[in-house]
Amino acid sequence: MKEIIMVKYGEIALKGINKKTFEDMLQNNIKRRLKKIGQFGYERMQSTIYIEPLDENSNVDDAVEALKKIFGIGAIQKCAVYPKDIGAVKEHLGEYLKDALDGAKTFKIEAKRADKTFPFTSPEIQQQLGDAVLDNFPEIGVDVHNPDVTVRLEIRDNGAYLSAKRITGAGGMPVGSSGKALLMLSGGIDSPVAGYMMAKRGLVVDCIHYISPPYTSERALTKVQKLCEEMTEYCGDIMFYCVPFTEIQEAIRDNCPEEYFTVIMRRLMVKIANKICAKDGYGAIITGESLAQVASQTLPALGCTNAAAEYPVFRPLIGMDKIEITELSRKIGTFETSILPYEDCCTVFSPKHPRTKPHLDDILKAESAFDFDSMIDKAISETTVKRYKYGEETVFL
Ligand code: ATP
Ligand code: MG
Repeated sequence: MKEIIMVKYGEIALKGINKKTFEDMLQNNIKRRLKKIGQFGYERMQSTIYIEPLDENSNVDDAVEALKKIFGIGAIQKCAVYPKDIGAVKEHLGEYLKDALDGAKTFKIEAKRADKTFPFTSPEIQQQLGDAVLDNFPEIGVDVHNPDVTVRLEIRDNGAYLSAKRITGAGGMPVGSSGKALLMLSGGIDSPVAGYMMAKRGLVVDCIHYISPPYTSERALTKVQKLCEEMTEYCGDIMFYCVPFTEIQEAIRDNCPEEYFTVIMRRLMVKIANKICAKDGYGAIITGESLAQVASQTLPALGCTNAAAEYPVFRPLIGMDKIEITELSRKIGTFETSILPYEDCCTVFSPKHPRTKPHLDDILKAESAFDFDSMIDKAISETTVKRYKYGEETVFL
């Protein structure tokens, strides 16, 4: 028996005339990902991609695991492929459905006949297969409204496809279909989750991280790089910009009122991100900010940070609480790395009493006490870039 995978589109299925562009992107993303697993053939029909292993070494279960993390996929189904002969399907279905029906109380059959030359209608197929399932699994009952398991048979040009398990896909839009954005990635719990959420909307997510050695350690940087590597599971390849931020932070410390340290620092981070966006073609900045989480994320503080941005700032976590964010972080596999205890540059020189209601006028005045612009240019000229490739060794650029 041959087993293949059917991939059903998520939101792409709703697209109009430009649907094919999205389909091509999704298929390319899938191909790139599965290349690491084996040799697979692809065919596309009616909002479905059929993926077939081309040799013994190309494992279908491994492919399913990888597919679960690809945005743009609504559902994934493994199927057994039989000759287009109802007798053959009936003979073998007991064996193939054993795992799926084990422990189930009810089932129903859904038949679809794409090949209209097949001698039975869909209701006739459903009847015959239903009887065969009952013969093989005498304890199970039929429930056409709310079954535990739906057994599906599709008659297509080149075979009969039988499946019983439908796995929910990662949803969203194919990475790359919405353009690219720059994620401000710290070592915390929030920002990797923010990156995941925007990759889900079809953005290529590249990362920018600010370091302040010797106040922040090499291990803190390694931790953020590990997060980047972990994020490639969902986001695909990631460019990582590492910006030296020590001199800027020291200048803030020496020249600005302490109560504004964090907001000014965040604004300078954003100003650096602006320039990288302009230079390398990013259309937005992403942050892991969540309203009211800390003093720098009150409405007035976010307003001051936002005023420094020359690009749309996406804050997908803005309305989520820490428990929800943490749950997602566990789900996407970044939590354990995020909670490693190394310091972030935000915690260096953090004020004892930060202003929770800063005024932009005061902030601008404080910033004008020093020539930050030339420091920003210097930091950018000293920025290093690496490329993290999904499932591959890190590339240094
Ligand atoms: P996180 O869990 O993402 O670190 P947080 O709750 O600790 O967030 P802050 O430290 O106030 O919040 O940072 C808010 C946001 O600013 C982060 O989500 C991130 O987008 C950005 N940020 C903070 N520090 C850095 C850094 N060193 N490099 C890049 N971005 C940063
Ligand atoms: Mg942080």
